[in-house]
Amino acid sequence: MTMNAFLVCAHAEPRSFNGALFRTAGETLRAAGHAVAVSDLYAMKFDPVSDRRNFTSVKNPDFFKQQIEEMHATEVGGFAPDLEAELRKMEACDLMIWQFPLWWFGLPGILKGWADRVFAMGRTYGGERFYENGVFKGKRALLSLTTGGPEAAYQKGGWNGDIRAILRPIQRGILRFTGWDVLAPNIVYAPARISEEERQASLKSWATRMSAIESEQPIDIGEY
Ligand SMILES: Cc1cc2nc3c(=O)[nH]c(=O)nc-3n(C[C@H](O)[C@H](O)[C@H](O)COP(=O)(O)OP(=O)(O)OC[C@H]3O[C@@H](n4cnc5c(N)ncnc54)[C@H](O)[C@@H]3O)c2cc1C
Repeated sequence: MTMNAFLVCAHAEPRSFNGALFRTAGETLRAAGHAVAVSDLYAMKFDPVSDRRNFTSVKNPDFFKQQIEEMHATEVGGFAPDLEAELRKMEACDLMIWQFPLWWFGLPGILKGWADRVFAMGRTYGGERFYENGVFKGKRALLSLTTGGPEAAYQKGGWNGDIRAILRPIQRGILRFTGWDVLAPNIVYAPARISEEERQASLKSWATRMSAIESEQPIDIGEY
């Protein structure tokens, strides 16, 4: 089964380990016959600031309320071209992968801003369309991230705590909320501190995983 994959990358340095993971995913998926769309956010100079620039339409010129404008833009086709392009990539894909370094226990600003702008009310959620009845029902999403801290620091009760809890706001609050089935995250702990051999091995296992990704089952992301 061939898929439409959509890879979103949030790293400013193409030669970073995130850059390597991003390219590995794209190359492997293409080699397996899948169609791959990408948004390399820094390379695109994606604007992460959410305001009236999100729209070509205006519902209320006197008071800006983002979700009201989003619902209006959904009705009249009023999203700014940069958002419309991202929405279409997301809507066309079967599998979406976000590649990013963990920043302050969360998404780098450029990717958080991308989500703030692209996940628009009306178009991507709302009405009765949340969680298992969400707009993106049947599509799969996967977080691929790197950390500065080692794996031992990201265990429950460990120095930083359970990585699954750290990822829950993203996996539940953004992805599952809008209907995506969430696949197990790909986490490369401390790529700057491990050996060259370990880095090569993690790229290889990521490629192996990508080559059979269409048959993976979603994970239980947990509740609060
Ligand atoms: C604002 C900010 C907030 C942060 N918050 C957190 C936090 O909350 N928690 C946390 O744990 N960390 C945090 N960090 C650290 C951050 O998560 C890590 O620095 C980042 O994840 C490392 O990934 P990288 O791609 O930048 O690594 P890089 O340093 O780019 O890469 C690591 C090594 O891999 C090598 N490499 C690149 N390509 C290849 C290849 N093809 N094959 C083999 N080796 C290769 C590079 O040359 C380099 O030696 C934060 C950092 C910043 C700047």
